[in-house]
Amino acid sequence: MSALVVGAGPVGLTAAIELLRRDVPVRIVDRVDRPHPHSKSIVLWPRALEAFARLGVADEIVERGVRMSAQNYYSGGRRTLRLGFGKVTGTSYPFAVSLPQQETEEVLRGALGRLGGKIEFGVRLTGFAQDEHGVRAELADSHAAFTHDTDWLIGADGSRSTVREHLGVPFEGATYPQQFLLADGECDTPLAHDEAHYFMTPKGVLVVVGLPGGLYRVFVSVAPNVDTSDPLAVIQAAATERSPVPVRLVGDQRTGLFQVQRRLAGRLRQGRVLLVGDAAHIHSPAGAQGLNTGIEDASALAWRIARGGRGPAAASLERWERERLYVAERVVADTDRQTRMWTLSGWRRTARDLGFAVGRLTGVTDRVVPARQAQLDLVLPGAPDRAGDLRTGARLPDGPLPDGSTLHDTLRSGGPALLVLVGTGAPAAAEQARRFLAAAPTGGVHTRVVTGGPKLGLREPTAVLVRPDGVIDLIVPLADEPRLTAALREWAATAPTP
Ligand SMILES: Cc1cc2nc3c(=O)[nH]c(=O)nc-3n(C[C@H](O)[C@H](O)[C@H](O)COP(=O)(O)OP(=O)(O)OC[C@H]3O[C@@H](n4cnc5c(N)ncnc54)[C@H](O)[C@@H]3O)c2cc1C
Repeated sequence: MSALVVGAGPVGLTAAIELLRRDVPVRIVDRVDRPHPHSKSIVLWPRALEAFARLGVADEIVERGVRMSAQNYYSGGRRTLRLGFGKVTGTSYPFAVSLPQQETEEVLRGALGRLGGKIEFGVRLTGFAQDEHGVRAELADSHAAFTHDTDWLIGADGSRSTVREHLGVPFEGATYPQQFLLADGECDTPLAHDEAHYFMTPKGVLVVVGLPGGLYRVFVSVAPNVDTSDPLAVIQAAATERSPVPVRLVGDQRTGLFQVQRRLAGRLRQGRVLLVGDAAHIHSPAGAQGLNTGIEDASALAWRIARGGRGPAAASLERWERERLYVAERVVADTDRQTRMWTLSGWRRTARDLGFAVGRLTGVTDRVVPARQAQLDLVLPGAPDRAGDLRTGARLPDGPLPDGSTLHDTLRSGGPALLVLVGTGAPAAAEQARRFLAAAPTGGVHTRVVTGGPKLGLREPTAVLVRPDGVIDLIVPLADEPRLTAALREWAATAPTP
C-alpha cells in the first residue's frame, strides 16, 4: 500500500503525515522549488487544533500563534456584536489561534520530517492513468519526465488543481466582483491585538486581526473598478475611512491582492484518485474556513486509505466523499452569507444590525456562531443515534480525566477507540466493562474504561466507538454486549496491517 500526495500545502502535508504515522509509504511532491513565502490563512479554529493535536503539533502551533479571545463586528462606526469563546465548551482549545499559513506549514513540515517524510520540491504532476489496481502518475522536474506507480493519488494541489482538471471534474461556482487586499506588518492602532475586528460598511469591509510578534493583518475589500496599483495606499485609505479609531500601517508591510471565488468540485473521488482542500472547495476568507476545512478533509481521508477503504460503512471512501461534500457545501454557503453580510446597505443593513442586537441580548450569537465557525457543532449526515450530549456523526467532546489526560488523548493512537463511559459511583459497571473488554475482539481498537470523565449527560454506562478522526460512529449501552461485540469485530477484522 502506498500513496502519492500532490501538493505540499497545509492540506497535502496533513494527508502525508496522517498516512506516514499509520506506516503507509508516501511520496509528496510540489511543483514549486521551495515553500511558498506568502501568508494566506491566519485563523485556526478549535477543530483544526484538535486534528493537529492528533498529529502531535498543536502545542507548537498554539505557542507560535496568538490566542484569539473574541471577534468584534462594527457597523456605522459602532460595535454591534462581540463574540467571545466563553460558550465554546467540550474542547481543550476553547479559542482560535492566529498564525500565518507559512508558519503552520513549517510546523507540519517538521512533523513530516520526524516521520521520515521528505517533500520533493520542483516536481509537478502532469497527468495520470488508473485502473482498479493502482495509479500510474506522470511527474516531471526541470530535467526529465518520469512515472510513478502508486495505490492512491491524493490531489492536494490547490484551487487550480491539475488532478481535478485531469479527472474532468467540474468546479462550479462564481467569482466575487470585489477585489480583496491585505497588508501584514506593524500597525499603530488601539484595537485589541488578541481579537478580530470586522468593520462592515456599504463600501466594503475592513478586517483587523493580530499576528504573532505584535504585528497585525489589515484586510479590505474594494470595488472592482478601484485602481490597486498602489495596494498599500488603497488599504490605508480604506482603513482610515472605515474604522472609527486609528488604524495606521507603519514600516514594512507584506501586501497581497486576491480575487475571491466560491466553487465546489462536482465529486471528490474517482476510483483511486481523491481531491482534498482547495482542490475540492474554495470560498471567501470570511469566517476563515478554507485551510481548516482542508485539514479535516485530509484527516478524515487518511485513516480510511490506510484501511484500503475497507471495513465498517464509516471507513468507506464513499462515506468520506458524502461527508466531505456535505461539509464543503455548508462552508461555501456560510462564507458566502458572511461575505454578503459584510457590505449590506439600506434596510438590509438595518435588519442585519437589528439581528445582531437581538442575538447579543439573548446570547444566541455567542452560543451558536463560534461553535459553527469552529465546526464543533457539525453533525455529519447519516442515521443519528444519541445519548446525553453524544451524537453519532458528531465529534467526541473533549474534557479532562482524573489522571490528568483528556478524553481526546485516547484518539492519538491513530486507530479507532472504544471508550466505555461509566459514572464515578458505579464500580460494578466499571468492573463489568473491564471484563467485557478483556474478552472482546478488540484487535486494532484502542479501548479504555473511563470513570469520572466530563459530564456528558449519560443515564447508564455507555460504550462509544470513535473513529480515528474523532467522530462518533456508534453509541451503545454497555448492557447491549452482543451489538458491541459485532461492531468491534467489524473494526478489528479490517485493522490495517503495517
Ligand atoms: C487572503 C486569504 C486569507 C485566508 N485566510 C484563511 C483563514 O484565516 N483560515 C482558513 O482556514 N483559510 C484561509 N484561507 C484559505 C487557505 O489559504 C486555503 O484554504 C489553503 O491554502 C488551502 O490549502 P491547500 O493545501 O488545499 O492548497 P494550497 O495551499 O494552494 O497548496 C497547494 C499546493 O499544490 C502545489 N501544486 C499545484 N499544482 C501542482 C502540480 N500539478 N504538481 C505538484 N504540485 C502542485 C502548489 O504549488 C501548492 O504548494 C485564506 C485564503 C486567502 C486567499
